[in-house]
Amino acid sequence: MKNAVLITIGDEILSGNTVDTNSNFIATQLKNIGFKVVQIFTISDEIETIKKTLKSAFELGDLVITTGGLGPTKDDKTKKAFAEFFNDTLVSDTETLEHLKQLLIKRKREHLFDINLPQADILSKSKVFQNYNGTAPSLMVEENGKIAICLPGVPYEVKPLIKNQIVPFLQQKFEQNYIVTKIISVVNFPESLLSETLESWELALPENISLSYLPIANRVKLRLTATGKKEEILNEQLNEEITKLRPLVQDNVISENGDSIEEILHDLLISKNLTISTAESCTGGELSHLITSVSGSSQYFLGGICTYQTQKKIEILGVSEDLIKEKTVVSEEVAQAMSLGAQKLFKTDISLSTTGVAGPNSDEFESEIGIVFYSIRIKNFEKTFKLYLPHIERKDFMNFVSMKVLQDLIEILVKQNEN
Ligand code: ATP
Ligand code: MG
Repeated sequence: MKNAVLITIGDEILSGNTVDTNSNFIATQLKNIGFKVVQIFTISDEIETIKKTLKSAFELGDLVITTGGLGPTKDDKTKKAFAEFFNDTLVSDTETLEHLKQLLIKRKREHLFDINLPQADILSKSKVFQNYNGTAPSLMVEENGKIAICLPGVPYEVKPLIKNQIVPFLQQKFEQNYIVTKIISVVNFPESLLSETLESWELALPENISLSYLPIANRVKLRLTATGKKEEILNEQLNEEITKLRPLVQDNVISENGDSIEEILHDLLISKNLTISTAESCTGGELSHLITSVSGSSQYFLGGICTYQTQKKIEILGVSEDLIKEKTVVSEEVAQAMSLGAQKLFKTDISLSTTGVAGPNSDEFESEIGIVFYSIRIKNFEKTFKLYLPHIERKDFMNFVSMKVLQDLIEILVKQNEN
C-alpha cells in the first residue's frame, strides 16, 4: 500500500471561512484505490510555506495532492511554488489555452480572457488534467518515482477531476488494488446470534472479501470489503454474496445501500412502499432537505411545507386557532395537528412535523428556548416526542432535531416489522 499526503492551501480555510471538504473527499477516493493517507496539512497561501510543506510531504508519502490556490488572482500562488520546488519553469500550453478559450466562450465570458491567460501556464515537465468545470487545470509532476498533483480549490471542480481523471491515472500508474465496500444494516439480531446465523456463509466468503460487524444502537452494520484489480468484478462479487446473505437474515435487513439515516430511510420506504410528507416549523426545511438528499427520494417523498409563522399553521395545515391559544404553538397537541394536516394535504402514508424554538430568541408565546415537539404519523398510528436542547447553535439544532425525527421514524418502522 502506498502512502499519500494531502495539502489544503488557503488562508480562508485557516481563518475558518471555508470548511475543508476537499480533503475528506480526496481521502475517501484514494482509500478506494489502495492509498493510505498518512497526513493532511492545511497551510496558508505563501510560496515559502507551500514549498516547505511539499518537502515534508514527500518525506512521508509517494503521492502528494494539493488543493487550492490555482486561480488567476494574486493570492493564488500554488503553481509558482510548484515551479520553484521542482526547479521548473512555467510555459504557456497551447492545448490548455484552447481549452480555456472554449470554456470562456461557452460561459460568455470572453472579456475575461486576458486575466485568465496565465492559467494556461503549466510547469514544463508537468502532465495536464484539463478542468471541464473551471479555468484552472490540474497539473501532475513526477520526480524520482514520486508524484505531486495540484488541484484547484472549488469542490465542484475537484470532484470530477479526481473521479474521472486522477483516480484512473493513479490506478494505472501504481497498479494497486481497488477496495469496494458495502454496508448492510441488520436489525432485531443481537451481534452474537447474527454471527452464529451467518457462520457458514462467512466461512465460505471468497478470500478477497472480508467481513466486519459494527453494532450501533439496535442494529448491526455488516461491512463487506472486497479487494482486487477490477472494480466491476468486485461489485459483482459483493452483490452475489449479498444475495446469498438475504435468505439468512430475511426481512431484518433494513438497508443495503449505505449507512446514513437518509439512505436507510430510502431503502425502508421503498421496500414497504410507503409515501412521506413533512410539516416543519423549527427545523426550517432541514427535514425535507435531509430526506431529499438521497437520489430516488421522489419515489416516496411527496412534499413538505415549512409553516414558520403561527398563522400559516392555521391557514395551510388546518391547525385550530383555539388549540394554539390553549396549548401554545410549541406543544404536543400542535405537533400532532401539524402532522395530521400534512398527511391530509399531501395524502401520504407517513407525515412528520416539528414545532419548537431554536433560539436564541423566543416566540410570541414566550416558549422556552430549546423545547421541541415532533410528531410521527404512520397511517392511523401517531407518536409525539419531546426534546430539550437549550444550548446549541441554530443550524446544529435544526440538523440534530431533523436527524432525530428520521431516526425515530426508522425505529418505529422496524418495530412494526417485528410485530
Ligand atoms: P479559483 O480559480 O476559484 O480562485 P483556486 O484553485 O484558486 O480557484 P481557491 O481560490 O483556493 O482555489 O479556492 C476557491 C474556492 O474554493 C474558495 O473560495 C472556497 O470556497 C473553495 N475551497 C477552496 N479550498 C477548499 C477546500 N479545501 N474545501 C472546500 N472548499 C474549498
Ligand atoms: Mg483562488
